[in-house]
Amino acid sequence: MKTEIAKFLTEKGFSVKDGKFFATIKGYHFNGSFKENSYFTPLTLHVSFFATRIQQQTIASALSVTLGKQISVVATDYGMKFIYNNMSVKELLRILPFSLDYIPDVLAKEGALDCRYCPICGTELKPEEQRLLSVDGIFVALDEHCRANYAVTEVSAETQSDIPNNYAKGIVGALAGSLIGAVITFFATMYIGLSFIISIVSLLLATALYKKMGGKPNNVMIAVSGCFTVVFQLLACLAAYVIAAHDAFGQTSDIWQSFMAAMMIQEFSAAFYLGFILNLLFSIGSIVVYLFIYKRKKSRSVL
Ligand SMILES: [Zn+2]
Repeated sequence: MKTEIAKFLTEKGFSVKDGKFFATIKGYHFNGSFKENSYFTPLTLHVSFFATRIQQQTIASALSVTLGKQISVVATDYGMKFIYNNMSVKELLRILPFSLDYIPDVLAKEGALDCRYCPICGTELKPEEQRLLSVDGIFVALDEHCRANYAVTEVSAETQSDIPNNYAKGIVGALAGSLIGAVITFFATMYIGLSFIISIVSLLLATALYKKMGGKPNNVMIAVSGCFTVVFQLLACLAAYVIAAHDAFGQTSDIWQSFMAAMMIQEFSAAFYLGFILNLLFSIGSIVVYLFIYKRKKSRSVL
């Protein structure tokens, strides 16, 4: 059921599910819930941030004055809660755009630390700590220390896609993962012969390290990891055959010449083409399978 509040929130970039919603606005995590069917729509909004007690008081009083009496402002362990009392859907739709714009501006102005910091202790979060956790139904990112002190549960991949993205580091991670895959393929080709199955290992390593380094789990992650996997798997396969050829024929000539000489031998060239093509097909196949499983998991996950 797509009602007015849900529609508004979705347009604002929130993930909305079963009367609960979440988004990151101007660097701050916004959580909330609403009951759309009641005449006076009770809506609560929680914004997580770290601030000192004095900053909290300044923020609370600044926001209470501007937002008016109908909105209660309550400090929490990890931010601030806003309760919209006795408001019709129409009134909510009037005040919400202003709230979503104004609240993060006041927070930033008063120096409240955004979602890159633990909202409980203010420690800067490592990339792997920026994953969202559910604490009392509210999605926040906590550092390792605070995580241990609160009852937290993991949050679905769909919601994780709202965490800040770090493409550059993610790409470095994917590169590292597919290079490890390439090294395995190189040795597997040298000593076992066929190595095409390694492409799935390469892809899994690349995507895992992409996420570990702070990249969002999304289509870009799969595209980057997939491209690196295809390229490095083929290069590793080629390198293994070139070196094998050099070992066998390369007493006098340079590496490439001995490879070309080996390719004149039908048995060698057939083995090379078979290995190369299988590697290419399995690399592409791994990406297709990964994408299929990823999409299925994403469509099933809940907020
Ligand atoms: Zn903390």
